[in-house]
Amino acid sequence: MSRPPTLLIVPDGMADWPQEEFNGKTPWEAAETPNLDSFCRQGRTVCLQNIPAESPADSGVANMALLGYDPREYYLGRGALEAFNLGIDLVEGEIAYRCNLIFVDEQGRLADYSAGNLAGDLGKQLFADLEEELGNDDFSFYPGLGYRGLLVTDALDLLDCARPHDQMGSPVEKLWPRGPGSQLLKQLMIKSRDILEEHPLNQQRRQAGLKPANMIWPWGGGCYQPLPAIQQRYNLNGSVVAGVDLINGLGRAVGMQKLTVPGATGGYDTDMLGKARAAIKALEPDSLVFLHLEAPDEAGHDGNAQLKLEMIEKFDRDIVGPVYRQWQREFFNLALGPDHYTPIQERTHVKEPVPFLIVDGEVNSLEFTEKAAKNAPFVSRGWEKLAAWYCEGGKFNL
Ligand SMILES: [Zn+2]
Repeated sequence: MSRPPTLLIVPDGMADWPQEEFNGKTPWEAAETPNLDSFCRQGRTVCLQNIPAESPADSGVANMALLGYDPREYYLGRGALEAFNLGIDLVEGEIAYRCNLIFVDEQGRLADYSAGNLAGDLGKQLFADLEEELGNDDFSFYPGLGYRGLLVTDALDLLDCARPHDQMGSPVEKLWPRGPGSQLLKQLMIKSRDILEEHPLNQQRRQAGLKPANMIWPWGGGCYQPLPAIQQRYNLNGSVVAGVDLINGLGRAVGMQKLTVPGATGGYDTDMLGKARAAIKALEPDSLVFLHLEAPDEAGHDGNAQLKLEMIEKFDRDIVGPVYRQWQREFFNLALGPDHYTPIQERTHVKEPVPFLIVDGEVNSLEFTEKAAKNAPFVSRGWEKLAAWYCEGGKFNL
């Protein structure tokens, strides 16, 4: 017998802490979310442990767990997941680092991990020129989306690199990579600054009052290893709808089909409605569809509570709304919640259990917010429970 489809929706980093500007409410609580409220009345709020105690609060780790894979066993490192997405076949001994284009200010501080949310084709051009000038047998640059790219190398070990979004405002001098051979990477970063600082595209950005993308920041290194596919683990067809390379790479690494939505940018301007439509279209019996939205997390990293609230309201209107209307027409299982907290106060990920909504035919009378989740049934080792649910269908076992 076939099972109803399962839809996993992850508004990345949506969970937050109380904010003074919202009179002690979180952006999620302060936001108008009529569609989430409707879904909530049809499901169960739980408090989900989705990051193992030993693992970092990284989006790759947390989203892998939400797909039912134990990150301690399977996590590859962000760079390797993103390489997978870009179709770069890493070989034995190669490491892929995620490579941001960042903005270093005149005081030498890491002033912006995304160089002012560098978008469009600028990043592509800058990475092409970096490859031209710095690429060789040891190092290759590949462009990703916006300010994101990859640095693939067989000349380095896995180094300890600061995550740039955790270090906004810190002096670069204190943040250089650590580990054997890290000097080589530091030199490459310094050379990138020489090239990018003078780059005509960056001069144009300065003249337009925008932040220049004046240095590379490699981090999140990983080597590739094959993962068991969703098809084998759960006997389900998997699809992924996401804007960011990390999540598309994760989807591909577990054999999910990538559904392309032209306006899915991974940024604030992403085409949420287009993503919802693509996900709904993919819902068929014996399928697991994974819809990921980056925007709330970005607003958390930017420390912008008002923008986060707006992104949550847009998420509710343009993604949850159409999904709920479809659900009313034809039942499917739903798992919806953030992968981790990205509190405005911290501007980075925080590891604590997350509110999660399970719609499987059972109902509890809790609201679906951070506060409600604190009193909700606690689901330990969420990756195991989700894996069992994806595998067997039916009710989600707490
Ligand atoms: Zn995340």
